[in-house]
Amino acid sequence: MTSMTIEREPVLPVFMNPALMNEDDRWAAVVRRAPAADRLFCYSVRTTGVYCRPSCASRLPRRENVRFHRTCADAAKAGFRPCKRCRPNGPLPTERRTSTTADACRPVEAAA
Ligand SMILES: [Zn+2]
Repeated sequence: MTSMTIEREPVLPVFMNPALMNEDDRWAAVVRRAPAADRLFCYSVRTTGVYCRPSCASRLPRRENVRFHRTCADAAKAGFRPCKRCRPNGPLPTERRTSTTADACRPVEAAA
């Protein structure tokens, strides 16, 4: 008889595969301010007119005012301004070492 004792808590369940993320997953990432989600999407807040990284430290908006965007460019195109606090259109802190140009927010390439 085998007993499944290894029950690993999924720390970041689907963040590695943005294709699997639905709106609830994205919202959960925003609520948890998960830095791992920063490169996967950004969200805009209708009431403030800005868009943020999931890990932004600013006050959590009401979900009904939030829209998710694949890239910062998408959010900008939709008429939102980048948040001054999390600078979603700047380089990610974790990506500073790789020399990124202005488009730090290009879409995540699906890894086959
Ligand atoms: Zn922000």
